Amino acid sequence: TDTVLELEDLAMHFGPVRAVDGVSLRIRRGQVTALVGESGSGKSTVGRCIVRLVEPTGGAVRLGGTDITHLSRSQMRRHRREVSIVFQDPAGSLDPRMLVGDIVAEPLQLQGVRLSRKERAERVSDGLRRVGLRPEVARRYPHELSGGQRQRVSIARALMSEPTLLVADEPTSALDVSVQAAVLNLLADLQRDIGFACLFITHDLSAVEYLADDIAVMYLGQLVEQGSRAEIFATPRHPYTQALLAAAPVADPGRQRSRTRVLLGDDLPSAMDPPSGCRFHTRCPIAVARCAEEVPELRRSGGASVACHFVHEDGSAPDIRHDQPAT
Ligand code: SF4
Ligand code: MG
Repeated sequence: TDTVLELEDLAMHFGPVRAVDGVSLRIRRGQVTALVGESGSGKSTVGRCIVRLVEPTGGAVRLGGTDITHLSRSQMRRHRREVSIVFQDPAGSLDPRMLVGDIVAEPLQLQGVRLSRKERAERVSDGLRRVGLRPEVARRYPHELSGGQRQRVSIARALMSEPTLLVADEPTSALDVSVQAAVLNLLADLQRDIGFACLFITHDLSAVEYLADDIAVMYLGQLVEQGSRAEIFATPRHPYTQALLAAAPVADPGRQRSRTRVLLGDDLPSAMDPPSGCRFHTRCPIAVARCAEEVPELRRSGGASVACHFVHEDGSAPDIRHDQPAT
């Protein structure tokens, strides 16, 4: 099978907050799937469910066919080897009291890999070199490094166990703009060379255009559109996807900007009390009364899957000509 990980109807409710509410998604082996949406859409929570930092309240997370949502600790050990995560903020995710070498070697230790001191030092050196750091960095503490170097250390640690899936949660957004591209390029090169699958969680559409094979768009805990990068950039069908793309800088000057001009304000509704029917209806420029009542199912449309009552089965997108969101 070419599926590494499959989410089926995944739910993560924190009390009344439905952070993730019925997400089904396949991540293909060796491919980059971008999970995009505004902050507050639940995309980070999906990543945390996959690495079991939180236990989902519903649905299944299938890794190589095994549902890992209810595994015991020892069963989890194998899973931890197969799936790693890189967080947004390397300052917060690296233990400041640990030497970089110990941080990078930690996954091996947690998995009970037995190595001589020499073998361990070699693995650490190789891991650091792979991310463009000198082996001497192993004897430093995280605070002695720049933000970009610290994120390279996080990536080295995450790849130590040769994972089949790397979850990268906004891996560059806490970094100086000047080093973001270098870290993104590093991730892209490593992914191509090593061939791990990646769930790339981001709100940065130009990074998505550069890195992703597949795209899944999340809005208030649910997927509204998914498909290949080529398909979604060429023909964004869901009004929310159209709005995200219209707001993104255009990386390829040959590509035309979306003809639509849906504008998103700062008025993302709360996941505590999501709007009825289609959750996007409070901001959608083409919403009609039915949208507030009927939940649109994700269904096949052209080369993508889209959850909108007005996306046509022939694959054409709804025609949006408003310049302002409906109120
Ligand atoms: Fe807009 Fe209605 Fe489609 Fe939702 S279902 S995206 S509110 S047109
Ligand atoms: Mg986030």
